[in-house]
Amino acid sequence: MRCSSKRKDGQQCRAAALSGQPCCHFHSRPGRAAELGSKGGKRRAIFRPENLKHFAPATSAAELAAVVGQTLCDVRDGRLDAKTGNAVGCLAGCLLSVIKADSLETRMAAVEKFIREERSRESRKSH
Ligand SMILES: [Zn+2]
Repeated sequence: MRCSSKRKDGQQCRAAALSGQPCCHFHSRPGRAAELGSKGGKRRAIFRPENLKHFAPATSAAELAAVVGQTLCDVRDGRLDAKTGNAVGCLAGCLLSVIKADSLETRMAAVEKFIREERSRESRKSH
């Protein structure tokens, strides 16, 4: 069933009515849309990138630790909202996995190169 209320522009609201009620989520709770908008406004007010320390993209675990450590302090001190801080934490986890995989690949390549060179040296000695 469709919501029975009219929108501000006079057109019929096209949202689905809540079950057992004549109106949708927003029309059955006057002021709810404004409340949610205000929450978004508060979040945007607290997240002001110009107030945060700038970092170049991290390419090592140590650089990533600096970003994550700073983000933790920004959330605690109220310079950054928890939702954005949480997103940073989540992305930091992804980046750390990539950094670890890249580090392992680099180290394995060095070990493989060493083994190839040793074998080549050994075979030259025996001839
Ligand atoms: Zn409605």
